[in-house]
Amino acid sequence: MPNTEKYTCPRCHTGVLVLKPVTLYTKVGSEWVIVPNFPAWVCDVCRYTEYDEKALGMLNAFLSAERSPRHNSRRRPPNTPTAPRPQQSEEQK
Ligand SMILES: [Zn+2]
Repeated sequence: MPNTEKYTCPRCHTGVLVLKPVTLYTKVGSEWVIVPNFPAWVCDVCRYTEYDEKALGMLNAFLSAERSPRHNSRRRPPNTPTAPRPQQSEEQK
């Protein structure tokens, strides 16, 4: 089948979904994440957009991996300092 790369639009049933890079806006927790050049299937008639499932899965895995270390650092108790803070400038007057 030579036409495996083409999908009829599920919305208008007239156009053809074409794989092209789009700008993806997705919300992760309370933050909006903008991903340029994200692969998506876009209808050439009604502009229906369907994001590529594989790429979306990879993005979600990437974003959840990005979030976990930030989560850990936030949960660190404040009374266990990792580096000494230089606060002696006022005492040296
Ligand atoms: Zn369409």
